[in-house]
Amino acid sequence: MKEKSERYAYRDLKICTKDCLCLFVCPTGATDNETGQIDFDKCIGCGSCAASCPSKAISMLPRVYPKQKVKDKHVISELFKLADSKIEQIKILKNMINESSNDDEKRLYKALIHSNKVIIEDLFREAGFMLSQSTNTNKFLKSLLGKDKEIDTIINKLLSKLVVND
Ligand code: SF4
Ligand code: SF4
Repeated sequence: MKEKSERYAYRDLKICTKDCLCLFVCPTGATDNETGQIDFDKCIGCGSCAASCPSKAISMLPRVYPKQKVKDKHVISELFKLADSKIEQIKILKNMINESSNDDEKRLYKALIHSNKVIIEDLFREAGFMLSQSTNTNKFLKSLLGKDKEIDTIINKLLSKLVVND
């Protein structure tokens, strides 16, 4: 069996303007696929399509990604502590919004809440997992509740890290 190349071409259909130059340069016909995507199996990773694309719609991606670096557990613990302090700050800011009658102040507190949410997501990502601070995440996690006690414990822990509560 033929060995697979280390990388393959990926076409971003949102950027592709269908100029079709990649169709002419591909030596294997991988770019000419009915799905609009490049044929993963036919691609030999030569990169000609990416070099010829005027829209920069093609990226060369590795077939195998390097293993994720294991984070030090003390670093993870500190990141979680920092995220928890941001969660507390958001609770305080929400109370301040409720108590304020000044629109400018309210706008400022809302901006601070938003920036804290972004920081919390970054801290969790640095700690090794994604937890988007969104209503959809909240709804999704809640939809998983009630099926298994062990899973419920994990989901409730994740929900406690969400500042979006409704
Ligand atoms: S050359 Fe680029 S823009 Fe043209 S069809 Fe190929 S991917 Fe799309
Ligand atoms: S990298 Fe080479 S083989 Fe793969 S789709 Fe592009 S032109 Fe074809």
